[in-house]
Amino acid sequence: MSDAAAIEVENLRHRYGKREALAGVSLRVAERDIVSLLGPNGSGKTTLFKILSTLLPPVAGSVRIFGHDVARQPHAVRRCLGIVFQHPSLDPKLTVRENLLHQGHLYGLHGRPLRLRLEGLLAEFGLAERGADLVATLSGGLQRRVELAKALLHEPRLLLLDEPSTGLDPGARHDLTRMLQRVRHERGATILLTTHILDDAEQSDRVGIIDQGRVIAEGTPAELKARVGGDVISLLAARPDALLEKLRARFACEAVLVDGMVRIERAQGHEFVRDVVEAFPEEVQSITFGKPTLEDVFVHLTGHRLWLAQEGGDRQGRVQGGSP
Ligand code: ADP
Repeated sequence: MSDAAAIEVENLRHRYGKREALAGVSLRVAERDIVSLLGPNGSGKTTLFKILSTLLPPVAGSVRIFGHDVARQPHAVRRCLGIVFQHPSLDPKLTVRENLLHQGHLYGLHGRPLRLRLEGLLAEFGLAERGADLVATLSGGLQRRVELAKALLHEPRLLLLDEPSTGLDPGARHDLTRMLQRVRHERGATILLTTHILDDAEQSDRVGIIDQGRVIAEGTPAELKARVGGDVISLLAARPDALLEKLRARFACEAVLVDGMVRIERAQGHEFVRDVVEAFPEEVQSITFGKPTLEDVFVHLTGHRLWLAQEGGDRQGRVQGGSP
């Protein structure tokens, strides 16, 4: 949305013993953008998140937040940051208001200024009626709203959220997306969130795709999807290997196997669907065809599916029989 950088990460590396969690991450997040870091489990999202939030020192490479170096100026960085962790940070035995008051005190806020800010946030997040309720009595979606209000109490310029929608039902996820867009519009905040949920990434201004400790692509959802060559066609067959060979021979296409299905990227996909069904009516059991999703972008770039990609090389979704 603007050219000024909120986050600048250059060639960031991190190891846990022998395991390389970040293998040279570079990423730039412009001020007032909402950016999702999309990647499978084990891709390094949490490690990057911890370094951005100054909980873990970078081993090599650099990270600047609004121009402040996280290694050398962690206090200045922390003042700019509001953080929502994956695991709830609220005390369920305290009321909503008490949780926020405690947070305010941690940031040196007291008395009337704190009360005013707190009540403003409760109103902003539709929590005014629930301020006196114990957090334990709130739904998961409402608890997330309280987490958000808590993270915004000291008016940070950058909001970091680690897997914020994990465990929320679709309604609460939608609600969270709406809240984040409002935070950006009304407070001018920059928002970076990690996720493995495609819908979350779709709703962002920009998406960084992370895999095996590297950001392998970055852009708007539309830009990323434009990297896939045309439409995406998936075919189910009793003998996918045999169909793959026949398709290659007949149509000279770059068909590959992903997760037991034949996958083809092709312009004018609807015509191709008709031709394939006509050519191999016995072999094809079902066929799907659609515009690329961010999942397709991930498959296109890595050769494996986002949700099947596991750590430690157990990549059952890996493409076989050709470059993706
Ligand atoms: P993600 O958040 O994308 O799931 P992580 O940053 O948690 O990824 O993990 C990246 C890699 O680092 C994984 O291979 C993970 O097993 C490893 N890892 C994460 N935390 C630790 C730790 N404390 N000790 C050892 N290995 C770790």
